Amino acid sequence: MNGLNTTTLKNQLTARRERLQETIKYVPDPIKLFALLQQVDSALERIDTGSYGICDVCHDPVEAERLLIDPLLTVCLDHLNHHQLRALEQDLEFAIKIQRNLLPENNLTTKGWEFSYNYTPAGPVSGDFCDFIKLDDGSVLFVLGDVSGKGISASLMMSHLNALIRSLLSSNLPVNEIVTRANRLFCESTLSTHYATMVFGRANAEGDVELCIAGHNPPIIINDGQVTSLSSTGLPVGLFCQSEYGLINVNMQKGDSLILYTDGFTEAAVNETEYGENRLKKQILKSAKSNAQKITEDLITDHKNFLNGTTRMDDVTIAVIKKI
Ligand SMILES: [Zn+2]
Repeated sequence: MNGLNTTTLKNQLTARRERLQETIKYVPDPIKLFALLQQVDSALERIDTGSYGICDVCHDPVEAERLLIDPLLTVCLDHLNHHQLRALEQDLEFAIKIQRNLLPENNLTTKGWEFSYNYTPAGPVSGDFCDFIKLDDGSVLFVLGDVSGKGISASLMMSHLNALIRSLLSSNLPVNEIVTRANRLFCESTLSTHYATMVFGRANAEGDVELCIAGHNPPIIINDGQVTSLSSTGLPVGLFCQSEYGLINVNMQKGDSLILYTDGFTEAAVNETEYGENRLKKQILKSAKSNAQKITEDLITDHKNFLNGTTRMDDVTIAVIKKI
């Protein structure tokens, strides 16, 4: 049964069925709605007989993530008809557009800082997100994260989280407070199957950096030839509504860099050997004297060399923030 809660599902479907019946009374041409009513009744019947969530064609389970979004589905992804496939393609094209528009300007330079990133989805859309936002007081907010899962639903959750964070910026709170609020709102609005790890920070012109790390891979700081990893200050966003988040304060000097990355970078593997944090640190040290754009490019080149043609399984995002 795909691990779906059928009692909840049945209650939801029953409530929606009542709405549907009400609407049918007032619609002049209700033929399509009657067809929909039949589909709802059929789903309810399948829940009662225990055959819900099984593909009509191959009898394998239908993907649980898709059923949560559309509980009336009766076939798995492999057995969509022509119209269903076309609709899915259109959704995907739309999701790609939304996502491209969310990415920040690359190689941004502000007073005291350079910001570069590389964003490479494994498929057409990504669950990773990255944003740099210039504030009126001259400081810059930066965020890099990774929503659990893949495909359209992860990418839409990513857009949702991105919008949520942006809407909280005007509050002028410390970054950990913004994450605490974003977590609460994300928990209340999201499908229970999704959560996100992220690093959220603010850098001012004097080199002071505030960081909140929500269950994300340790960001790496290089200063004065020393490489340090920073630990998490809280749980991933979307796991528990009441999570609190801590704050890390660091002062970065001219020439120092902060490197953020998603697990797709360090966990990319060839013959079960991962790229890993150690190789990442070594590569960062090699490029330490370059500008942010060159450090980013060198990291991506080294990653490609490591993979040597092996297909990446996950989205990869890195961001380099350099004090100049
Ligand atoms: Zn099937």
